[in-house]
Amino acid sequence: MGKPTGFMEFTRKSVPYRDAHERLGDFGEIYTPPKEKKLRRQAARCMDCGVPFCQSDEGCPIDNLIPEWNDLVFQGRWREALDRLHKTNNFPEFTGRTCPAPCEGACVLGITDPAVTIKNIENAIIDRGFAEGWVSHVTPAQRSGQKVAVVGSGPAGLSAADQLNKAGHLVTVFEREDRIGGLLMYGIPNMKLDKSFVDRRVDLMREAGIEFRTGIHVGVDVATAELLSEYDALLLATGATRPRDLPIPGRDAEGIHFAMDFLTANTRSLLDSNLADGNYISAKDKAVIVIGGGDTGTDCIATSLRHGCKSLVNLELLPEPPAQRAADNPWPLWPKIMRTDYGHEEAIARFGADPRAFAILSKEFLVEEGRVTGLRTVQIEWQSREGRMEMVEIPGTEQTWEADLVLLAMGFLGPETNVSESLGVELDPRTNYRAEHGDFQTSVPGVFAAGDCRRGQSLVVWGINEGRGAARAIDEYLRGESQLPAPMITLGTAVG
Ligand SMILES: Cc1cc2nc3c(=O)[nH]c(=O)nc-3n(C[C@H](O)[C@H](O)[C@H](O)COP(=O)(O)OP(=O)(O)OC[C@H]3O[C@@H](n4cnc5c(N)ncnc54)[C@H](O)[C@@H]3O)c2cc1C
Ligand code: SF4
Repeated sequence: MGKPTGFMEFTRKSVPYRDAHERLGDFGEIYTPPKEKKLRRQAARCMDCGVPFCQSDEGCPIDNLIPEWNDLVFQGRWREALDRLHKTNNFPEFTGRTCPAPCEGACVLGITDPAVTIKNIENAIIDRGFAEGWVSHVTPAQRSGQKVAVVGSGPAGLSAADQLNKAGHLVTVFEREDRIGGLLMYGIPNMKLDKSFVDRRVDLMREAGIEFRTGIHVGVDVATAELLSEYDALLLATGATRPRDLPIPGRDAEGIHFAMDFLTANTRSLLDSNLADGNYISAKDKAVIVIGGGDTGTDCIATSLRHGCKSLVNLELLPEPPAQRAADNPWPLWPKIMRTDYGHEEAIARFGADPRAFAILSKEFLVEEGRVTGLRTVQIEWQSREGRMEMVEIPGTEQTWEADLVLLAMGFLGPETNVSESLGVELDPRTNYRAEHGDFQTSVPGVFAAGDCRRGQSLVVWGINEGRGAARAIDEYLRGESQLPAPMITLGTAVG
């Protein structure tokens, strides 16, 4: 374990973000470099508690060996810590930056004190590994002679490809976008995950023998049946890309966009030309309304602020969460509490107030000459009726908000259906591809599904969980057995 008395001697200190005013001036990452001495102290807080909830059940979805690498970091044995980390996580540089860290919600120290800064330590281990030149590509000693096609290059597709390649199969990843990474590339903005880190990992995978084919929309540019006949197995990792709409009067007005159109165009233009080509939806000098909370809403807030918006509000249908865990949300469950994320912090720095308003129902977009000029809303109350929560409008609380740009960030409804329809893959009642966690097999023999297209909109770390699990299932399907490890956690807590 770390230091036996570490948890009593040291308090939790996270690696700070850059100053909010400063970071609003660029699209660079929000993080500051960690200090080794401080990190080792934080690792010393790990109690090696015997039953490490942080890496099981409600904790880390990929069973990261957290107490082991905490101890190794405390001792300054970084290279061994890196080896431990790579045993369970193909891409710690992605989770170390973007994961909401359910492990910390389940940390045993968290029962009485603030949890260990697990995510910071994970990120420091992998960044140190790259800086020292310890991370290299892994080419399999032997090829199996079997070929697997992976459709979609998000964390699920990439982790499956990495694992299948290690098992000796020849893997081709098909991606319809011009760059590899799924939402790691076009979704999560640069300030949370610098895109050079995605490219760096993809380059290693390419050197290891994985083929990447961009600009190919499977089901449109190439028939799915063709892939099925050419490859020995097919993995669908196409994400949950159908956005939830807001069909209220005025929805067709100019200036109302889905969050993903806004975020994707911004990152593409940033990478292509540092925004010089103007091929993005600008929030400059506009009154912006972001409808919907969650990561997507926060990323829209942060991006609008960097464009130089005139004003900004973020409307949420749900009530404000409590400051502390509620009685029905005990440890080790994910704490459903009010959090001030990086985008909210930045809005407070720019405008002096939290941009969020809770329990607000949008009723109508106000439109002049075809363009959105405002939004009419009403305050609601959530009431329990026959065991179900229902929203009730509060009379006299109608309000009008100015808007030149409205961004819809209200979640996703599952995968697009062109691939499933052409293959005859069955959907589940939530319109995701039907496949059980564990065997990941769809209703069509040889076709597997993993990630958001199977479980619904989730997290990067769940994408890695499913990609690793699906790789093992495919390996078993191809060979009759598999030596590939797969995460033990199948359900986990609802985070997001
Ligand atoms: C804006 C935003 C911010 C987020 N922030 C976070 C965060 O901070 N932390 C976190 O843990 N999670 C976050 N998430 C969730 C996380 O990004 C996803 O859960 C995760 O990326 C899902 O991985 P995936 O591999 O299943 O799918 P995706 O990452 O969605 O990748 C699917 C890929 O498949 C491609 N594709 C689809 N259909 C086809 C086809 N027919 N042919 C070829 N290619 C196809 C798509 O272009 C896409 O690139 C965020 C999500 C969004 C939308
Ligand atoms: S991947 Fe997420 S849950 Fe797992 S150890 Fe890292 S921060 Fe924690």
